[in-house]
Amino acid sequence: MVIKPMIRNSICLNAHPAGLRIYVQDGIDYIKKQKKFTGPKNVLIVGGSAGYGLATRIAAAFGAGAKTLSIAFEKPASDRRAATAGWYASEYFKTQAEAQGLFTENIYGDAFSREIKDEAIAAVKKHFGGKVDLLVYSLASGVRTDPRTGVVYRSVLKPIGAAYSAKSVNPLTGQLEEGSISPATEEEIEATIKVMGGEDWELWVDALLEAGVLSQGAVSLAYSYIGPDMTRAVYRDGTIGRAKEHIENSAKVLDKKLKSSLGGAAYISVNKALVTRASAVIPVVPLYLGILFKTMEKKGLQEDCIEQMYRLMTDRLYAGGSVPTDAEGR
Ligand code: NAD
Repeated sequence: MVIKPMIRNSICLNAHPAGLRIYVQDGIDYIKKQKKFTGPKNVLIVGGSAGYGLATRIAAAFGAGAKTLSIAFEKPASDRRAATAGWYASEYFKTQAEAQGLFTENIYGDAFSREIKDEAIAAVKKHFGGKVDLLVYSLASGVRTDPRTGVVYRSVLKPIGAAYSAKSVNPLTGQLEEGSISPATEEEIEATIKVMGGEDWELWVDALLEAGVLSQGAVSLAYSYIGPDMTRAVYRDGTIGRAKEHIENSAKVLDKKLKSSLGGAAYISVNKALVTRASAVIPVVPLYLGILFKTMEKKGLQEDCIEQMYRLMTDRLYAGGSVPTDAEGR
């Protein structure tokens, strides 16, 4: 099959396996050049096929020799379509990890469902000796079916209270354009919290605790973003910001739960802005990212997912002693 780029509204709709091989290999090569560290041994990553979840997986496997199990919503190729980017990335990661003798398993399906949680628990029992010591929750999704009610929720990236207009850049043409988004309705705010908030993370931890497959001292981790004043109206003060407040609150609930049951902990890691599928279509964000990357490069500070996730493990989570956090426990 010849794969030709399909791009709509600045979003690439298909992927090429050769590109994903290079992307994953670059991450592996970066970690191999860093100092090895004593870290997690059995890692379950919900959303481990792309972005921050994939980088966490690469850092844990190639930096600390961890066994990794990833849950992701990805599809293999069919007669007419190429596979999704995350499928190519996950399969390539598996070949490289296995070549180093690192156990790797990929489960493809809807992480929000009870069925996939049960499948993951069965895999943990079979391959991890029944114990996970790091659960990473790195989902980014536009839609979630609540497993208890069957109701489908769709998240939106919108401001709250007033419309928002700003300059943006079209990533394909490089032209500056004026963009505008109308404010979210109450229903849209609630739906975004349902999809991108912490409810499903809590369900994951509860399911694993109930099945007795978290080890003594187990850590769970989810990712958040704060950002500058420039993106505040559409990000931290917008619908996604409400979902992030919710997941940050879930971290506090889970931290108490894991502490009291296993002497474990839950944390939020606030990560840097990077290009994702959604960010390309929010006004101001592509322009902000373009300026941010250039400025950080000039200052020698620019990092991708992999550098941040390596630092998260070596400078924070597995540095020894108490984990440094801000006043909010992030
Ligand atoms: P991404 O789109 O690169 O990856 C999302 C992952 O979620 C993929 O593995 C995908 O397969 C998986 N996924 C989505 N829906 C699923 C489903 N129903 N079932 C199973 N898997 C599913 O996302 P990302 O940018 O790495 O974001 C991960 C987390 O990091 C999010 O919480 C995000 O808010 C946060 N974060 C992102 C940025 C950024 O700029 N990208 C910055 C800070 C924090």
